[in-house]
Amino acid sequence: MARILIVEDEEKIARFVTLELEHEGYQVEHAADGRTAVDLALERNYDLILLDVLLPQLNGMEVLRRVRKHKDVPVIMVTARDAVMDKVAGLDAGADDYLTKPFGIAELLARVRALLRRRQINAAEPQATLLFGDYVIDCVNRVVTRQGAVLHLSQIEYRLLAFLAANPGRVLTHRHLLAQVWGGQAVENPQYLRVYVGHLRQKIEDNPAQPRHILTEIGVGYRFQI
Ligand code: CA
Repeated sequence: MARILIVEDEEKIARFVTLELEHEGYQVEHAADGRTAVDLALERNYDLILLDVLLPQLNGMEVLRRVRKHKDVPVIMVTARDAVMDKVAGLDAGADDYLTKPFGIAELLARVRALLRRRQINAAEPQATLLFGDYVIDCVNRVVTRQGAVLHLSQIEYRLLAFLAANPGRVLTHRHLLAQVWGGQAVENPQYLRVYVGHLRQKIEDNPAQPRHILTEIGVGYRFQI
């Protein structure tokens, strides 16, 4: 049974989310301020932390930084609707996903399930083959095929696609993708990314204007959908 820590100072929300998660069979604990959250997260083992950004004592970003120094527990940041900077900063500081307030319970449960599932997959052997839609990525030979037909991709396109497909369901920030795909002398300009994502969509999406696999998270980055 997965153990979840909810960090939330609004009692009503905390109680509601706790009940819903318990109903799904999760074991839930609650911290109402940032300091308690850090203490609990460091001394106990959670499978996931749901972390509000605006908190008394220590804000969620600072909680995340302190927890990340010692633990790689999956974290979903909960931000205000328009706080794009919070989303980017949170993801760059090591959050795995974010939800914007107010969120629907179905969305919350879907994100929780996805993150816990990904955790199990990542714990297994690194995969030699990645699948999405009717595509197969052969990570050993670095070849992508669709129903047996080889897709022609540049090195950068391949690296971008393989990294996206290895992290399904996860929001990846511009900065994170640029560092992963272009490496050390990380290109800072998200415009490069936009261009390559555009190329990739032309090659893999049936309708590039309404992508099914490479989804845009406005102002933040991209989310890959299998
Ligand atoms: Ca709050």
